[in-house]
Amino acid sequence: TKTEATPAKTANGPSRSKGGSDQVVSIPKRHEEERKRLPIYSARDAILAGIKKHPSVIIVGETGSGKTTQIPQYILEAGWAQYGAIAVTQPRRVAATSLARRVAEEAGTKLGQRVGYTVRFDDTSSPHTKLKYLTDGMLMREILSDPLLHRYNYVLLDEAHERTLRTDILFGMLKDIQSKRHQLKPNGSATTTPRIVDELKIIVMSATLDAERFAKYFNNAEILYVEGRQFPVRVFNTLEPQPDYLDSALVTALQIHTEQGPGDVLVFLTGQEEIENLEKLLLEQRQRLPAEAQDLLVCPLFAALPPAQQALVFTPAPPRTRKIILATNIAETSITLPGIRYVIDTGVHKSRGYSSKIGIESLLVAPISKSSARQRTGRAGREALGYCYRLYTEDGFAQLEEDSEPEILRCNLAAAILQLKAAGVNDVLDFDYMDRPPKLALLRALEQLYALNALDDTGRLSKLGKWMAEFPLDPCFAKVLFESQAHQCTHEVIDIIALLSVDTLFMMPFHKREEAAEARQKFTSLDGDHITFLNLQKAYQSVKGDSQWCSDHFVNHRGMHHVQEVRKQLRQVCERVKVNPNVSCGHDFDRVLQCFTTGFFHQTALLQPDGTYRSVIGSQYVRIHPSSTLFGKRHEAILYNELVFTTRLYVRGVSAIQANWIPEASPRYFRQGQLTAKAALPSVKGP
Ligand code: ADP
Ligand code: MG
Repeated sequence: TKTEATPAKTANGPSRSKGGSDQVVSIPKRHEEERKRLPIYSARDAILAGIKKHPSVIIVGETGSGKTTQIPQYILEAGWAQYGAIAVTQPRRVAATSLARRVAEEAGTKLGQRVGYTVRFDDTSSPHTKLKYLTDGMLMREILSDPLLHRYNYVLLDEAHERTLRTDILFGMLKDIQSKRHQLKPNGSATTTPRIVDELKIIVMSATLDAERFAKYFNNAEILYVEGRQFPVRVFNTLEPQPDYLDSALVTALQIHTEQGPGDVLVFLTGQEEIENLEKLLLEQRQRLPAEAQDLLVCPLFAALPPAQQALVFTPAPPRTRKIILATNIAETSITLPGIRYVIDTGVHKSRGYSSKIGIESLLVAPISKSSARQRTGRAGREALGYCYRLYTEDGFAQLEEDSEPEILRCNLAAAILQLKAAGVNDVLDFDYMDRPPKLALLRALEQLYALNALDDTGRLSKLGKWMAEFPLDPCFAKVLFESQAHQCTHEVIDIIALLSVDTLFMMPFHKREEAAEARQKFTSLDGDHITFLNLQKAYQSVKGDSQWCSDHFVNHRGMHHVQEVRKQLRQVCERVKVNPNVSCGHDFDRVLQCFTTGFFHQTALLQPDGTYRSVIGSQYVRIHPSSTLFGKRHEAILYNELVFTTRLYVRGVSAIQANWIPEASPRYFRQGQLTAKAALPSVKGP
């Protein structure tokens, strides 16, 4: 039989309890009464019965009803986790750590003992851990070393409504593991396995009501609805679109503070920087409040905040003080904050998804969906009648997407396949997708990965492919970054990738076209857009991002600001994987462009005798976009980052290259240096 986790050697002595270290911790259980008051408590027996009876259960419940913190504890308390453990996945790192901390406290155990968490670069769990909160990415990793997840008897897939790429991949993998483990049941033929092979229970938790699709996918799983406690919320929209939502958030927050009755305020913002800016502005205004007015306490909440400060958002405000919480969309459904009566919804978030430009994760500020807006509104009505101030018009709301599309359908498929393969799913064509991407698109993406050398001849992830999967970037860019080491131009490549993440760096106001073009001339490189952007970055850094300089030079200040964020993040990832981000090629820009060709050989075109360009692959006529520095110029070959179709096929982000670099960039793709012949993919599915 399965060997038990050795109980920790403690004063409790020799009475070895079955639950490992279960009984040996002496921290008293807390929040007993509070736990019983949660809406989910009345559904406890029904939930346990459902889990007992069905292999998969979908649980739908209003945010804050107690799904994430309570259901795993119910299983634990029922004594069902004696052999296998419980895993609860979270799309966000902060949610995993902060929820684990809370549940450890409720369960009366030290964090890392019976209750723990695992996120990247931080594992606070032990062999005794029975209940583990972890990011979806970490569970994918555990599957690699424990393909049938024998460690666990219960996997709770939380925040399923977010439909992140990783959650979707996990859905398919877990469904497969569940059926394999079912076949291994002791009354089957699995006597050879030395472990007690238990079934794997899958519990999908969601805050929105689209449960039928999940249920159908998980072999007609049982759906349980947990009644929430929701008070009505009055919604206000702005009459005009707001040019600066940060400013409107400030004004609205102060107005609530000075004019409205008691209750805390929750402001949804997109990230740390914005939160810190607004915090500063609010603290300045606090000084000006009349002496008799109630005080104001600003609490930021974002991923990089130290745990002690994160805890602050849960502590009630002191008397005669109103809390204003400035949070990212972590407060939308992942973490429930008490005491909120006023919500200020800016209507934007940083989309975890894929930026179609460079494929970087979790960076782009994008409008939220209607369903997100409703969730945000709901946060105001947990304890009493609430108020939600949407900093956009009613029309603006009407234009939002109903739901954000599953990431797997939004993101570049090569990136998705890379993730699937990295998660150990080799046969990506027959994978059981909840939303299946078109087969032809999958094949294309496989081909592309093969040409990039991310896959070996059998279709498995190569060493380079594994490296690329570590990067939160589109595989083409990841390849360029990898090659930048050999070409000794990592510094330049990082800058350019960051610059390419923004649509428009140079502004072209209609009535000042000539002035703008003239200003731009200062940065223009004959090599094309990539080096021109690089020149812009250098100049921008030399003036320390001065906003006046930007407007004088018709440079998109917000955009450049965003570029710096992407740049910072890329440099950090490089350092983590031991790539020196400072290696520079000086002015030898050929190296940079050659390096870009290794990732974008499939986005190149050759000059024709008649002066037009034809794409190397597909032989299409392409035109250089008027916004490009190479517009109207002739070079033997060009490389481009983007193909845009307006009335004609245009290419953007264009640089001049040498034609012979193209076949060199992917010998696999271009047979014997020929620019026309394309090697077929030897094995699409792998063995
Ligand atoms: P759900 O998953 O259904 O959204 P949760 O289980 O996350 O609900 O939350 C249940 C309750 O636990 C909420 O009232 C929330 O405020 C409370 N809670 C969660 N984490 C903490 C914490 N760190 N400190 C205090 N209360 C918390
Ligand atoms: Mg939850």
